[in-house]
Amino acid sequence: MIEHNKVVVITGASSGIGEATAKLLTKRGDKVVLGARREERLQKLADEIKAEGGEVIYASTDVTKRSDVEALAKLAVDTFGRIDVWLNNAGLMPHSTFDKLHVDEWERMVDVNIKGVLYGIAAGLPVMREQKSGHFINVSSVAGHKTHPGGGVYSGTKYAVRAISEALRQEEAQAGSNIRVTILSPGAVATELPNTITDTDLKGGIDSLYSAVAIPAERIAETVAFVMDTPEDTAMNEIIIRPTIQLP
Ligand code: NDP
Repeated sequence: MIEHNKVVVITGASSGIGEATAKLLTKRGDKVVLGARREERLQKLADEIKAEGGEVIYASTDVTKRSDVEALAKLAVDTFGRIDVWLNNAGLMPHSTFDKLHVDEWERMVDVNIKGVLYGIAAGLPVMREQKSGHFINVSSVAGHKTHPGGGVYSGTKYAVRAISEALRQEEAQAGSNIRVTILSPGAVATELPNTITDTDLKGGIDSLYSAVAIPAERIAETVAFVMDTPEDTAMNEIIIRPTIQLP
């Protein structure tokens, strides 16, 4: 019988995959600590979860600020006493070809998609080491396995998430810390993610792909719940999950 009472920190919890995961986990008894920048969205989500009897707390969090991410970890420990799972989920995907020189967007992706994950590890790892248990679930992408024109920087950040996660996994295995690491690589999921694309030459094509094939965010939430439920001596290290009809 699996007990569902884990303390789960979720970055990027104000929409999409993060929001769906918070709803699913609290329905089954896990406690969630929500971080994202749009506080009003977090508040609304927290109200909905509480109305359903779930346990939730949130803090306005910009994952590009290490102090915000540290504060989120402290909120989790002060409120619920521990951190069992850290879902590094915050991300953005402003695709564009290199010739457009959207350098600000390149930097933003590096800051959120890579450094945000690193700050999550820096905040969660000491707590998990102390507990001698924990689980990082780091959201990469199918784009972390293959790239395409217009997706170079996004893919680069998602390849990085996989490299970082695998090294962390090996280090924690070596240390015998009982900390698990999962890389979760979704394909097209119906969320607000394509709204981050400003390149009008690419946006239409990606919107068409998403409206043709995307699966609901709840599918990814179910996968998070599934990997969390693996017995402690077993770690689901890498999962690709995409729509059945998605080609690339
Ligand atoms: P959404 O755009 O719906 O959600 C992205 C979340 O990231 C939002 O909650 C947003 O909150 C948060 N976020 C963005 N910037 C920051 C920041 N600086 N600090 C804190 N939070 C931030 O998209 P998804 O749910 O789809 O994205 C979740 C993850 O899934 C991302 O890492 C994405 O790359 C990955 N993914 C998604 C796929 C898809 O097809 N949807 C496919 C493969 C991977 P706020 O703006 O309030 O800060």
